Amino acid sequence: MERAISGLGAAAGVAVGAAWPIHPLSAVARTAGSPGNERTALTDAIQAAAAAINALAAAQAGEAAEMLGFQVAMLEDEALAEGAFAAIAAGMPAHQAWAAALDAEIAGYLAADDPHFRARSSDLADIRDRVLRHLFGLGAVAIRSGDVIVAEDLQPSQFLAVDWSKGGGVALGAGSPTSHVATLARARSVPMVVGLGPSWTTLSGIVAVDGDAGRVIIAPSAATLAETEQRSAARKTATRQAEHRRLEPAVTRDGTRIAVSINVSGVEDIAGFAAESCDGIGLARTEFLAGDALDDEERQFGLYRALVRWADGRPVTIRTLDAGGDKPIPGYTVEDESNPFLGLRGIRLSLRHPDRFGVQLRALARAAADGPVRIMLPMVTRQDEIDAAGRLLDQATAELQAAGLAHARPPLGIMVEVPALAFAIGDIRADFLSIGSNDLTQYAAAAARDNPAVSAYADTLHPGVLGLIAHVARHGSAGGRSVSLCGDAGADPRSIPALLRAGLRSLSVPPGLVAATKEAIRAVDLSEERGHEP
Ligand code: PEP
Ligand code: MG
Repeated sequence: MERAISGLGAAAGVAVGAAWPIHPLSAVARTAGSPGNERTALTDAIQAAAAAINALAAAQAGEAAEMLGFQVAMLEDEALAEGAFAAIAAGMPAHQAWAAALDAEIAGYLAADDPHFRARSSDLADIRDRVLRHLFGLGAVAIRSGDVIVAEDLQPSQFLAVDWSKGGGVALGAGSPTSHVATLARARSVPMVVGLGPSWTTLSGIVAVDGDAGRVIIAPSAATLAETEQRSAARKTATRQAEHRRLEPAVTRDGTRIAVSINVSGVEDIAGFAAESCDGIGLARTEFLAGDALDDEERQFGLYRALVRWADGRPVTIRTLDAGGDKPIPGYTVEDESNPFLGLRGIRLSLRHPDRFGVQLRALARAAADGPVRIMLPMVTRQDEIDAAGRLLDQATAELQAAGLAHARPPLGIMVEVPALAFAIGDIRADFLSIGSNDLTQYAAAAARDNPAVSAYADTLHPGVLGLIAHVARHGSAGGRSVSLCGDAGADPRSIPALLRAGLRSLSVPPGLVAATKEAIRAVDLSEERGHEP
């Protein structure tokens, strides 16, 4: 019998597929057998995990294949499990023995002087959990294309590991429409419902994720399936019509030209997307650089240069690492902060790791030799952070000069996400500004972006938040500085009229939403409206 569970729509559209549950390891129990049985159980789990990773590696190339190869090599190295087998012989259950052995190994990697070793710790944590999943009988995390992931919550890295090109959706017990993983889902047009509460565990069999209505339907009837199919078709038609005009500029009814740039989280986001349909890259998130790449200047340089070459002369705004908050990077971000959103995040963390920050700044300055790169700092609160980053950028360019490597010093701009900075914007010296409405809203409205219980408070249209945006648009543009907005509100048709009335003339949105954003802009008539007063 069909039944529905209500949550919050986080990414529009409908997806029908088999529920693929990902249970958190903390939620399952396991009964241990004799030492002999436990030894066999661990041996089998290690072999199963290695086989699963090998299968995954066969479908990957480049960095991903290299990372998976490292994981298989580790699993095949008998020394890795030696300590666990000794503990099992002494009577410890296999899962405890394996977790303890791997935790010790991870601690060793984290304490290493060599940053490459430290970066490998997240790969080891992944191996630990994969083997534990097999021990607990939970299987691999990899899902079949077209399935619906159902879970308590999902890490951005888990989302990115899935091939969404053949469809599929996500239904989460926790999560929030403004979380990072929800942003990724919208960018890739993967229907997502969050905040379902504990009843997410009852999702099984065929389910329909309705991201428009914010609900998940279990065992959908033939009538529901037909209606879903119809809506998908209507959605495709509207998308096709908007796509038709995607290459045309976005101009309001009264003739005001609005720049529409794109947000990307990696080079795969621009594959197949024509640079002519946008005004450049307004936000390149670089948190995908987890692992080895954090300390690998050549690899970063290659990735940044790929963005610059794709943009073909259009501005490319690349944000330095915004690790922390909803974007943890294992082995780098601080664990166990009481409130990670108010902790060592973004530029605060980068300035505490000047060597690692220097790697990124050098790679960015080198890519700037190929085209108009702009460096953007996340989570800025004070002028001295911008000044410190500027000095490190000077140092980076001096090092490149000494090494005889081609480079340029890019403009240094900031995200406006912290309300105190937004209020003080007239006195802040930075080359350009981009409003991060996701964080600005959560900090101004005191509503965590990952907490579904307060998502109604996290409203960019709140007069107080809009007032801050209008203030930044007006006072930030003094001296000809460009002011843009790159949070999710920029691609939300309900918010676009208010953002333009607040004075913004530049928005940056996920590639998949450029066409719809331009259509929403074309429907606005600014001559009819009074400007929003700060
Ligand atoms: C924002 O905060 O609005 C933003 C664009 O940054 P992120 O979502 O990556 O934190
Ligand atoms: Mg942000």
